Amino acid sequence: MSKQGKIGVTSENIFPVIKKFLYSEHDIFLRELVSNAVDASQKLRTLASAGEYKGELGELDVRISFDPEAKTITVSDRGIGMTAEEVEKYINQIAFSGAEEFLDKYKDDKVAIIGHFGLGFYSSFMVSSRVEIQTKSYKEGAEAVHWSCEGSPEYVLEAGSRTERGTDIILHIDSESEEFLSRDRLSALLNKYCKFLPIPIIFGKKQEWKDGAYVDTEEDNQINDTHPAWTKKPSELKDEDYIQFYHQLYPQTFEEPLFWIHLNVDYPFNLTGILYFPKVKNQMELQRNKIQLYANQVFVTEEVEGIVPEYLTLLHGVLDSPDIPLNVSRSYLQSDAQVKKISNHIAKKVADRLDELFRNERPLFEEKWESLKVFVQYGMLSDEKFYERAVKFDLLTDLDGKYFTLEEYRTLTESEQTDKDGQLVWLYTNDKEGQYSAIERAKEKGYSVLVLDGPLDVHAISQLEQKLEKTRFVRVDSDSIAKLIVKDEAKESHLSAEEQKTLSEIFKARLPKDEKRNYSVVFEALGAEADAVLITQGEFMRRMQEMARLQP
Ligand code: ADP
Ligand code: MG
Repeated sequence: MSKQGKIGVTSENIFPVIKKFLYSEHDIFLRELVSNAVDASQKLRTLASAGEYKGELGELDVRISFDPEAKTITVSDRGIGMTAEEVEKYINQIAFSGAEEFLDKYKDDKVAIIGHFGLGFYSSFMVSSRVEIQTKSYKEGAEAVHWSCEGSPEYVLEAGSRTERGTDIILHIDSESEEFLSRDRLSALLNKYCKFLPIPIIFGKKQEWKDGAYVDTEEDNQINDTHPAWTKKPSELKDEDYIQFYHQLYPQTFEEPLFWIHLNVDYPFNLTGILYFPKVKNQMELQRNKIQLYANQVFVTEEVEGIVPEYLTLLHGVLDSPDIPLNVSRSYLQSDAQVKKISNHIAKKVADRLDELFRNERPLFEEKWESLKVFVQYGMLSDEKFYERAVKFDLLTDLDGKYFTLEEYRTLTESEQTDKDGQLVWLYTNDKEGQYSAIERAKEKGYSVLVLDGPLDVHAISQLEQKLEKTRFVRVDSDSIAKLIVKDEAKESHLSAEEQKTLSEIFKARLPKDEKRNYSVVFEALGAEADAVLITQGEFMRRMQEMARLQP
């Protein structure tokens, strides 16, 4: 058998298009070829368990090798292989995805097949001047086939040299892509895309340091973990396993995660994964986009915007879903109904986990609050549904470091801190040192003072004031404290209105010119005879200024 033909595409020559536009990152060719090899191995396994393949399975692994002299990279598997007809059908017809057809036929067997788009194989032409396939089908009596193509629609199909079931894909690397002919480069790529594939991926031999150089040992260098934690049942895993997996994902991070959420859904969509709440020491150092997105254990991206709600991009971990369309734009992703469901599910699970931790392990929850606070606040500010759930476990801290829910704090302050109009006045400080004397005065009066000095507190305060009925937050050194709280009535100044006005002008004259409008002078009785003069800034103006300062 020997045959020449034209690849079945509608456009005259699709190769320049593939080379240039198909994928922005050329390095994904390796991901595509390795995932095809994994698919071929999984398919054989499925056929074997369905009784359609009765031969021996043996070790199903995928081997990657390269030859710097011949300038080739080879990906070999021991999967189902292809007959000449199958090569014609699956390879020669671009964009005809064999994976989809296979899935249709075996969809009840729950096999995880990676291919989706039918273009993966052709991504190899982004880095190759010629691609060869040596393959032999698992089918009885099948003959080995050789296919070769130089990146033009012409191909050659003839008898092949493979003696055992499986496929070799041989890439003849073009002169612009020679960077890939290096152990380090290929290692890095395999580590990025293939670290958790379900079939062993072998790249050369393990090396050891000997006499001043690295030398190969006898042992195969398997680069992947075929059963990463997220694919296991939560009941199979201990805390240590989750922590160990965290370090496996982020080898550079020494901190342990605060806690985690193991996602495991198979209806109405397929989603697994583990999300971690990271420990944040400095809230300004929050890192986004540390969640890795996988599709059937193949790494896809670290950009998960659109798939998880924005505030959850602060979390770490892994999501794996074959139901997230991968070859589409972000804006499409955000409008996709399935993706929306997935996103809502994740948000709900995160809220559930926080709620459960709060209810069952409150001391632990409080201990972690300093790290959790920014997530919770950010979530409350950006997602109405999350607000409604979180309002039950959102905590306030007072000067003694005690924690209260909003409801608890209401009960605590109701009798002492309700003003004439029936409004609850919640005092807070955002600068314990700077507002020291004001804090002392408030304490003397028996008021509780909250500490709200976090990066999102100004915004959180505004939101809570809008949402909570009859509740105002007032900074401890603001003018309102003297005026608005019932208890203050006993402390009317000894000075007459006339005297207060004159003095007020004298004090105001000392303020910087452009600040005069924002401050007021307040008189208050200190004891039987003496008066205190307080120069305070209006609450509203001050808060506006603080918010303005927070804008980038
Ligand atoms: P997809 O993986 O999305 O189906 P690809 O372009 O990656 O598309 O591959 C096209 C088809 O070629 C596959 O569906 C499969 O039928 C066949 N194929 C590719 N690589 C192999 C392989 N290593 N072993 C067996 N069949 C393969
Ligand atoms: Mg593929």
